[in-house]
Amino acid sequence: MTSSLKRQLSGETRDSDEKRLQVAVDVGENEYSSVAVLVSLIPGKEGKYIVKGKPTTKIGRSRACDIALAEPDISTLHCELCVLTVTIDGYQRRLVNIVDRSRNGTFVNGNRLVKRDYILRNGDRVVLGRSCSFLFKYLADNEEEHPISASSVPTQGENNSDQFKKPTLSSQDVVRRPLSAQRPTFLDRFIVGKELGSGHYAIVKEATDKDSGDIVAVKIFHPQRNDDQKKTKQFREETKILMSIQHRNIVKLIDRFVEPVSKAQIQTYLVLEKVSDGELFDRIVRKTKLRQEETNAIFTQILNGLRYLHAKNIIHRDIKPENILLSIRKRQHTEEQQRGPWDDDEIDITIKIADFGLAKFIGEMQFTNTLCGTPSYVAPEVLKKTGYTSKVDLWSAGVLLYVCLCGFPPFSEQLSPPSMKEQILQGKVAFYSPYWDNVDDSCLHLISNLLVVNPAFRYDVQQTMNHPWFSDNSYLARSPALMSRQAIDESRIPKTYSELSSLQ
Ligand code: ADP
Ligand code: MG
Repeated sequence: MTSSLKRQLSGETRDSDEKRLQVAVDVGENEYSSVAVLVSLIPGKEGKYIVKGKPTTKIGRSRACDIALAEPDISTLHCELCVLTVTIDGYQRRLVNIVDRSRNGTFVNGNRLVKRDYILRNGDRVVLGRSCSFLFKYLADNEEEHPISASSVPTQGENNSDQFKKPTLSSQDVVRRPLSAQRPTFLDRFIVGKELGSGHYAIVKEATDKDSGDIVAVKIFHPQRNDDQKKTKQFREETKILMSIQHRNIVKLIDRFVEPVSKAQIQTYLVLEKVSDGELFDRIVRKTKLRQEETNAIFTQILNGLRYLHAKNIIHRDIKPENILLSIRKRQHTEEQQRGPWDDDEIDITIKIADFGLAKFIGEMQFTNTLCGTPSYVAPEVLKKTGYTSKVDLWSAGVLLYVCLCGFPPFSEQLSPPSMKEQILQGKVAFYSPYWDNVDDSCLHLISNLLVVNPAFRYDVQQTMNHPWFSDNSYLARSPALMSRQAIDESRIPKTYSELSSLQ
């Protein structure tokens, strides 16, 4: 600790006021309670500026500013701090929005705000111009009831006095009490770690719960426009339903946070159970295709999860190998008994379905358009945009089953003509020789009953689970194939996932 900071904390007076931070304060400022502090990181100018709950705090070189900074690279009015009272997940909270007004720039964590606003978070580093940098921190709810550390707060108006003001309790503090049920923000509760994956709308990272030490996954959505209160409310209600979901084959949604990042934008965080052993997609890529017994065991678990979701009227809508995660129990001893048809070094695999139920939040149109953009797994009725039911998941499950067993998708541009979209709309599926020669007829029968264009005639989840492929293990004692395996010119066979990924 520098000597000047020590002096300030002990309330000692200093010989010179030259380096003292200057704060000009509006008349009546004491009526406002404190919301946050800017801790000065300016060399030789240690101290804190209090951000009061008044609508706007002006920072700049002008003496008329609430926080006056003398440095030459600071604009007359450099930036404004606007206190917003927002409702986050039903709790009221006061947040500070920083708006740039400068010539030389206002930077938050190294990023320049170009005449833009940004809602500050605990620990943000705010740099004004080149010379003035600060650490931003919200005050804890009741912190104000105690004098702020004897205080390192520079005084108002009493110009050359070195007395540090003790915050006064005003009538505002009493009014503020209902706000005390403030909910911690996402970053108050979690430390964000390495990236686990990313998709169309979000990036998924590891995070540690600061209280429990639990490791979780957090899905951080790209910032969205905050123009629709109704949508936010709907999101809260829908995620509440998703949070009630409890099934071993479905990734658990632990919590969610919707927080403003600027006046116009919000950021959503979904806190999820972390699933450690990657996507089914990577397993297919690594092995080129999966053994029939293994596929059967994986598919059984996917159906268990889907049956649970469909019973609760939740449609996944984006079943594909990237959204199927694996939790693998590795073998520790040679004598350990395997619990399924897994690889030698694996004792058991639990399948977890990820990434569901948020279509409404993302926006029905946008979500459907994204699905239709790469339609490999999309049911014909989704492409036609004529309405859909839970049967869309069974179509996608049929595509997934096909991919697992041969390593390439049933519908693709490589198989054109007709185009991939047309193949889907016509339900044009074929089992090519030699790729399907060793797959049991009963499995081909099942796939043929999933990839049915008319959803009314397509199997539902229970019919799928009742299919003989799950009870009759005839594929283990192979019988001659009865269903036709179509011959095909090799060059038309789509690239397998592993070939595709080696090309990338
Ligand atoms: P998107 O909607 O953007 O596709 P996902 O929820 O599918 O987002 O997540 C993207 C990727 O992040 C997944 O494919 C997976 O690799 C990884 N991921 C998602 N959720 C988890 C989780 N709970 N645990 C571990 N990794 C995850
Ligand atoms: Mg996904």
